[in-house]
Amino acid sequence: MKAVQLIEIGQPLQLREIPVPAVGDDGVLVRIEAAGICHSDVHYRAGVSSVGPLPQTLGHEIAGVVEQAGKNVTGVKAGDRVCLHYLITCGECDYCRTAKEQFCRGATMLGKDRDGGYAEYIVVPARNAVPLPDEIPFAHGAVLMCSSATVFHALRKARLSPGETIAVFGAGGLGMSAIQLAGAFGALEVYAVDIDRQRLSLAGEYGAIPVDGTSGDPVSELRRLTGGRGVDVALELVGLPDVIRQAVQSLAVFGRAVLVGIAERPFSVDSYREVLGKEAQIIGSSDHLLQELPILIELARRGTLDLASVVTQTVPLEAGAINDALDALGAFAGGVRTVIAPSG
Ligand SMILES: [Zn+2]
Ligand SMILES: [Zn+2]
Repeated sequence: MKAVQLIEIGQPLQLREIPVPAVGDDGVLVRIEAAGICHSDVHYRAGVSSVGPLPQTLGHEIAGVVEQAGKNVTGVKAGDRVCLHYLITCGECDYCRTAKEQFCRGATMLGKDRDGGYAEYIVVPARNAVPLPDEIPFAHGAVLMCSSATVFHALRKARLSPGETIAVFGAGGLGMSAIQLAGAFGALEVYAVDIDRQRLSLAGEYGAIPVDGTSGDPVSELRRLTGGRGVDVALELVGLPDVIRQAVQSLAVFGRAVLVGIAERPFSVDSYREVLGKEAQIIGSSDHLLQELPILIELARRGTLDLASVVTQTVPLEAGAINDALDALGAFAGGVRTVIAPSG
């Protein structure tokens, strides 16, 4: 089968012909219909984030059809539409048993520690295959598995409650899901902070109040828009120290800043004025849980979460097109989300 793989860190991905993986007794072989190209993949290719044994097939946002199920598998069968939870956990360690599976001591991640979705087929344990209703296109199912799931978990960590206000810093792939999900959580006003006109206008179409970071200080603008109070929740999706600082500074009394964007440098905070003086909280959010995915998929099936404008580009399973999409993501360009469609 065809697979687009990382052969050497810092080099473009390459198309290779590799065997279709064997399905074990507890696994499923999935024919991949859609694989999202994620900013994390830019980091793996560049060597900024560690990646498992090379060559490695990247891609952790995957949806497709079960081609074959192992003999012990009962939950899904051949022909079922599924999307794949990217974290493969042991299910037995203390973290797995206490609903903290993203910290599983034996966890491996698709497209990072083991072969992922930039390919025609993949084998995963059956419990990682989550049913995907007919109403949700494969491309959307793939994107749900990462960007949407990440922000859904972050909003739960934020304890966003009905009637509260939220500012989403970064209106890219994650931000568009965050804006819509914040509405589902009952947010009264959702502000979207970005420096890109196109993304701000899309955020506006999804019901957010755009705050243009290029036309003045977003912190004072958020204060002005909230009658001087600040926001109850600030969701930081960019991962730049200055933006993290702005997220903390924009908080109201009792506000919660949830950090999702991966920053390579520390950020500074005025602990007296910006945190303890407001009883504010700075919360880290990492990955998501398998148990959160069915709720998220149901929100997408109902149209509460609409990804139609988020998936902006589809490319074939070809190294050149995929490398170009990764380059564009690395330069913070390239629209919102590109998805690979192996079967065209
Ligand atoms: Zn991702
Ligand atoms: Zn575990």
